[in-house]
Amino acid sequence: MSDIPLPQSENDPVLSRIEVLVADITTLNVDVIVNAANESLLGGSGVDGAIHNAAGPELLEHNKTLDGCKTGLAVITPSFNLASRSIKHIIHTVGPIWREVTDNPLPGQPNVNAKIGYTLEDTLLASCYMQALTLTTNHKLETIAFPSIATGVYNFPKPRAAKIAFGHIFGYLSNYAPNPETDFPKKVTICCFSQADADLYIQTIATKDDWM
Ligand code: ADP
Repeated sequence: MSDIPLPQSENDPVLSRIEVLVADITTLNVDVIVNAANESLLGGSGVDGAIHNAAGPELLEHNKTLDGCKTGLAVITPSFNLASRSIKHIIHTVGPIWREVTDNPLPGQPNVNAKIGYTLEDTLLASCYMQALTLTTNHKLETIAFPSIATGVYNFPKPRAAKIAFGHIFGYLSNYAPNPETDFPKKVTICCFSQADADLYIQTIATKDDWM
């Protein structure tokens, strides 16, 4: 696991609460990890498979009692076997499957999003981050780690996903949890699964003033 210093983080009180790591998310020392789940919540490939493996079969049994989770929403569960590693909870959120053409996401309605420069998938991905962060605040959890939601089998373009992820994490901390003494979460980890993904985040953050 490598801990990557962020550009300008010493001078920026919000940036200093965000870190980028290369790691298997199930090995982190945080209060809650986020799972890039599918709508069934019954496990899958990628990070979902790794989290179910590490949490153990009780997670699957628990999730069978839930009614799934819609794309863009999030639910919180216990972490079962991961509790032995300090991870108290898992937030399952369902990222959007990237589709190149999003001209008509809602039949019969104009695609307002595309006209103002973002797609339905962008909105849904942003919602995953906002929902997860809100759960962290409501449950008074200090530290949360996100994988790069939807950028694996769901095929969301990585540079676009990195802007949405970082932009909403930074915006949430700035607006809804500005005081790390009293607000939750205090720290957010962006957990990448490759050095190339981490480099992309570092670059995205370094150029934030150009696109935020
Ligand atoms: P999605 O279906 O949302 O695209 P994936 O699990 O396929 O979910 O991929 C999401 C991201 O999680 C990808 O960047 C992938 O490299 C990463 N990933 C896969 N396994 C792990 C893991 N154990 N820890 C952290 N990130 C992981």
